[in-house]
Amino acid sequence: MKLQYDFHIHSCLSPCGDNDMTPQNIVNMSQIMGYDVIALTDHNTCGNCPAVMKAGEKIGLTVIPGMELCTSEEVHVVCLFPDLEKAMAFSDYVYTTLPPVKNRPSVFGDQLICDENDEVIGTEEKLLITASSISCMKVVEVVTEYGGVCYPAHIDRSSFSILSNLGTIDESFGFNCAEIYDMTKEQELKEKYPYLKNLRIISDSDAHYLEKMRIPEQYIELSDKTIYNVFEYLTNKGDENFGSSDH
Ligand SMILES: [Zn+2]
Ligand SMILES: [Zn+2]
Repeated sequence: MKLQYDFHIHSCLSPCGDNDMTPQNIVNMSQIMGYDVIALTDHNTCGNCPAVMKAGEKIGLTVIPGMELCTSEEVHVVCLFPDLEKAMAFSDYVYTTLPPVKNRPSVFGDQLICDENDEVIGTEEKLLITASSISCMKVVEVVTEYGGVCYPAHIDRSSFSILSNLGTIDESFGFNCAEIYDMTKEQELKEKYPYLKNLRIISDSDAHYLEKMRIPEQYIELSDKTIYNVFEYLTNKGDENFGSSDH
């Protein structure tokens, strides 16, 4: 089956995420857009994954618990986990690797923790958009310990990306996949960084606002929409199951 996916979405727990990015709004918008599977990836936390997963379950939408980790080099890496328990354990670990800087909501935005009915049940005090002490070289190893998969985010962007901050991507990082925000840049990037030809390339919305969630343009072909199968796909290089919706 062809699955429409978006593995990089922020909620109201990310300070830069709009307060309307609540669990119900995210899953309902995903359903309207026609997604089969999404991942919630707030900056350096999985704190709203329990609520978004529960909200998704109610409408039959698969929600993968995840996080957009900011490495010590300020490279954004999307990390996805096979279940909530492992995601929350990783989230607790990442929390200890963040500097003790308090959020200033008036400057950075609110960091709201919700339940599945969109009730705000708490706020995160620590600023979540700082860099963790986990390096790009270590991230695959650490995420694998928690049963997860990870890949560098929006590598085509001029900030917070592996190419903008480290200038290269090669086998030493251990990634099997990479995310390109603007897929029209795929060929150009592959010519400039030939190593990318060895990787799965996927594209996500990185939505921080409901209106930035986009109509699915890419799909992955899997036998079913279990997280296990998604992980197999992301860790199994090659493009035989990859396509664009308009083909
Ligand atoms: Zn990012
Ligand atoms: Zn993001």
